[in-house]
Amino acid sequence: MTVRSNSAASRDIAYHLHPYTNARKNEDEGPVIIDRGEGVYVIDDQGNRYLEALAGLWCTGLGFSEERLVKAAVDQMAKLPYYHSFAQKTASPVVDLAEKIVEMTPAQLTKVFFANSGSEANDTAIKMVWYYNNALDRPEKKKIISRIKGYHGVTIAAASLTAMPYVQAGFDLPIKNIIHTGAPHYYRFAQEGESEEAFTDRLAQELEELIQSEGPDTVAAFIGEPLQGAGGVIVPPESYWPKIQAVLKKYDILLIADEVICGFGRTGQMFGSDTFGLKPDIMTLAKQLSSAYAPISAVLVSDPIYQAVADNSAKLGSFGHGYTYGAHPVAAAVALETLKIYEERKIVEQVQAVGPRLQDGLRRFEDSPIVGEVRGIGLIAAVELVADKASKAPFDPIGKVGAYFAASAQAKGVIFRNLGDTIAACPPMIITEAEIDILLDGFAAALAETE
Ligand code: PLP
Repeated sequence: MTVRSNSAASRDIAYHLHPYTNARKNEDEGPVIIDRGEGVYVIDDQGNRYLEALAGLWCTGLGFSEERLVKAAVDQMAKLPYYHSFAQKTASPVVDLAEKIVEMTPAQLTKVFFANSGSEANDTAIKMVWYYNNALDRPEKKKIISRIKGYHGVTIAAASLTAMPYVQAGFDLPIKNIIHTGAPHYYRFAQEGESEEAFTDRLAQELEELIQSEGPDTVAAFIGEPLQGAGGVIVPPESYWPKIQAVLKKYDILLIADEVICGFGRTGQMFGSDTFGLKPDIMTLAKQLSSAYAPISAVLVSDPIYQAVADNSAKLGSFGHGYTYGAHPVAAAVALETLKIYEERKIVEQVQAVGPRLQDGLRRFEDSPIVGEVRGIGLIAAVELVADKASKAPFDPIGKVGAYFAASAQAKGVIFRNLGDTIAACPPMIITEAEIDILLDGFAAALAETE
């Protein structure tokens, strides 16, 4: 593709350093510039229309043109465009949102702290855990365990939790006190002839051995997505979370559920913790919290954590943590309206109703010679492409075929996201069955071209 001089694409190349982009490739090809949204579709500045099969970045639960969210933002902007929650102040929609979120989330979570992104929420969760253990006079209990293929963000601490080479390479990460354990991906990591039950037994045992080798008194928390999203939509076996939680309980280790993707209906229940039986001490939320119409994230904590943090803040003079834009009234008003819409339109039931169309539709591709595994739940799914079905051998180099597939689907009007050679689908939750069929047609056409 040649980029016309003075076009928007050429100006983008001249001035814009993109996140998660091969900068040299962008210099050669330029970006796709998305101009507008309509339901589950986005339209670029050349007039091409794409079905957004990943809801942007797993986030626009209500699609790209929900008027009520626009109105909520405009009304709040006109009334009070900004205030903060520092030093015993706050704005009214923030109070309403705090009450609503605490009501919606599992009963043991009693207080909420607001930030702007998933990364900030997870950084905040780590700081809370450290602050909590300092308050309890356990200064050694600081290590956080995350999992291979877990994605928790890109700030320095969150990127250290994100155990993926492409997030850490070149950045001198991870930082100290962050350690990793295995991912519950049966297809990829089970040993020859190992049953699912034996596989989850082994993962729980590996976790226990890690805790023992590090010293239980040094391990503070375990963070996990109920279902690993960006790591490849890894749906854990049913027995996985109960066994992991039993180990954590034994060693007095807190559980942080990163619900940044799973939260608000995505897995067919309100939270991934409901779907997979997690009882977290801390929960982080973002993305679909505002359907991504405004940046906002939340950290929910249990009462024992709140009480210790409050004691420590009284001792130290204040809780020395907070963001200028955290608890932003406009973002809070948009999130509040989003949650109202989820309730009114029964978003959980909607996901349960249309989810099978996506899951069953993708399973039709299991017979393809390059499809290794089709997996998913609710309205989130992935198809892992492999070079050899029998041996599960990946393509070499990993990611090239996935990128080819994604480009091919995009040319046909459907935007998927390739995670290496795994193709992810996580459409806006308002998608209809007819639109799911269009998504599946795009998938079929791209697969035929890739085979
Ligand atoms: N946690 C999970 C599970 C995510 O998927 C993401 C982003 O995709 C994050 C955290 C980081 O969120 P953000 O990009 O808003 O910082």
